[in-house]
Amino acid sequence: MDNRCIRCGNPAAYPVRALEVRTLHVRGVGGERRVQALGSEKESAVCEHCARNMLDLSLHPFRAMRKPLLCFGAVFAAGIVAEAVAFLFLNGQRVFVLVGIAALICGILGIVEAARKAREKERELRALPESEALKEAAWDVFVGEAPKKEDVNDLTYIPIDEKTLKRKNGDLMILYSLLPEIAVQAWNRLHPSPETAEGKKEVHDDPTHCDVQDQG
Ligand SMILES: [Zn+2]
Repeated sequence: MDNRCIRCGNPAAYPVRALEVRTLHVRGVGGERRVQALGSEKESAVCEHCARNMLDLSLHPFRAMRKPLLCFGAVFAAGIVAEAVAFLFLNGQRVFVLVGIAALICGILGIVEAARKAREKERELRALPESEALKEAAWDVFVGEAPKKEDVNDLTYIPIDEKTLKRKNGDLMILYSLLPEIAVQAWNRLHPSPETAEGKKEVHDDPTHCDVQDQG
């Protein structure tokens, strides 16, 4: 494990283990579909200072949502500009009016969603003892710093910790936006049987509610 903080390089206090998920969005005639696969296991770490900073930020939702507010605020402002241009200079041209309305709606929905997430995160962290909240914050630092893309694939991460190990594959599917078969594979990767740990056996089932067989 790298004992340096992923964000600032100082000696780390919180080790982080994560299972990488690779998602490819394929656009076809029937719309968009996702192709997903599990990647490798990542080991990283976060220092006390960065974890505390993140916790402090998450406990103040208005500060935490400054970035999305700026981003969606800009989209909203672009919508106002488009409407102004459409009505002042283009005689209410339909295309510009519609583009402007789309930007206004997108901006508002983005701000509302960012506020909802920030409040939810705040509530979740306040309900935890400080030591647990710092671990959560360290995970958020890791997710913020870890690569988001590799080639055409989006990269996301599942924490490998006690909490995740207790989850069923259906929970993994919902929490980490996994396809059903990938959730089963993830569950199996997180709970290797002694045989697979030795590399002898490839297929094994989730005794809780597995109905898709793991391919790898
Ligand atoms: Zn740090």
